[in-house]
Amino acid sequence: MQTQGRNIVTLRSGVPLFEPRALAFVQTRGQVSSPERGLPEGHAVEWAARTLNVTTDQALSTWFFDGAGRVAPGSASSARHRLTHSPRAPPARRLPSRLPNDAGSNGGGAHMAELSSSNRTFVLAERPKGEPDANTLRLVAVDVPTPGKGQLLLRNRYLSLDPYMRGRMSAAPSYAPPVELGAVMVGGTVATVETSDVPGFSVGDWVVAFGGWQDYVLSDGKGLINLGPNPENPSWALGVLGMPGLTAWAGLTQIGRPQAGETLVVAGASGPVGATVGQIGKLLGCHVVGIAGGSKKCGHVVDTLGFDACIDYKADGFADALKAAVPSGIDIYFENVGGAVLDAVLPRLNTSARIPVCGLISQYNATSLPPGPDRLNLLMGMILRKRMTLRGFIVFDDFGHLYGEFSKKMTEWVKNGDIQYREEVISGLEQAPAAFIGLLRGEAFGKRVIALTP
Ligand code: NDP
Repeated sequence: MQTQGRNIVTLRSGVPLFEPRALAFVQTRGQVSSPERGLPEGHAVEWAARTLNVTTDQALSTWFFDGAGRVAPGSASSARHRLTHSPRAPPARRLPSRLPNDAGSNGGGAHMAELSSSNRTFVLAERPKGEPDANTLRLVAVDVPTPGKGQLLLRNRYLSLDPYMRGRMSAAPSYAPPVELGAVMVGGTVATVETSDVPGFSVGDWVVAFGGWQDYVLSDGKGLINLGPNPENPSWALGVLGMPGLTAWAGLTQIGRPQAGETLVVAGASGPVGATVGQIGKLLGCHVVGIAGGSKKCGHVVDTLGFDACIDYKADGFADALKAAVPSGIDIYFENVGGAVLDAVLPRLNTSARIPVCGLISQYNATSLPPGPDRLNLLMGMILRKRMTLRGFIVFDDFGHLYGEFSKKMTEWVKNGDIQYREEVISGLEQAPAAFIGLLRGEAFGKRVIALTP
């Protein structure tokens, strides 16, 4: 990937890559523009201007491309020429599009013949200070790894984007080691088995893996979840039926311990964890209030997910609106974000309140502590007086043993329509960095996954 400056980057291989702001803009309006979706190349300038809400002249003054798709300096007119007449670069080696459960042979040999020899990987290029940017990850093509004895070759089909990935980019102490510089970025994936020398896995099976930001990965089968040859919604295993779903269910039931009639407040209410927490709370008879950013997300939380109320933390009067929505106080606060949302929640907590501390996304890009005064002793005093329980957890470390029970219950709930699920699928591994930056900015609306193959 060639990048320069802060704006849209390249039309390499005929596929436009977007700078994060443009990508976010396009995504929030649901108009992903790409050749796959029929963007005529000759309209690149107009498209660029429209998506960034600037004039075509402004777009031209900052978005220059050369014929090979590199950003290059130049005049507005030459840039316009390049943008609108740039011939498509020869297509990158195309990866096979046939899925293993398509009609045809599933035999290992025939399957191998279709493999690309190139494995696109995103490696950690530098540790971000604050928000990750275009320099944080680098796209590198390497050979597809050759499986040895007792190994599987997996082809990643969906990559999960999750807030914890920000922590892995950092060398700061954490519950898991950081990704080394130059190493492939980690991430949960749903993959297909391309070759198998591991009992219990056949070519064509879909598996949940920790396959990372890349097309292909080797595995010895340990830790994989086999979804079989034809799962209905394979990517959901990265969301409501997988890690975020388990996080929601286990965090709420094991730490929140909800009782019918209690008031449950859920931060990050439109995301995969928060949305699931609130819906389980409703199934268990709680009065459920969500907190989310913006009227669109809040509307979804109430109208589609069935929460009793949702408060927009970005709107004026947030703290008062929250107070009015919880007349009996808060018995359980499911913490996903921290920061200003936590500040508004704390005074409303009841005696014996339980707080599953799941995440603090508002702090993940922070480079310093928030300005004073130091309120730690106030918080400790409140914990003491109200005999509150705050408990942090790391889902697989603390609750991995409950996965079977969770999976059975959640599959049933989803099948019956008791739990609704919203997913945002973005096509193309090359979009992953910008999509991840957007996730940390609150731009995701539902569970964000990258589809690696058509
Ligand atoms: P989401 O996909 O919901 O993305 C995060 C959401 O957080 C955004 O959509 C945004 O929604 C909100 N957000 C972003 N920035 C802020 C901010 N400054 N203030 C308030 N809200 C903000 O994430 P997940 O559902 O996947 O995860 C939710 C939380 O759970 C995260 O903190 C994550 O790290 C944590 N987690 C913890 C696990 C564990 O084992 N402890 C496992 C899995 C997740 P909005 O537009 O509403 O602001």
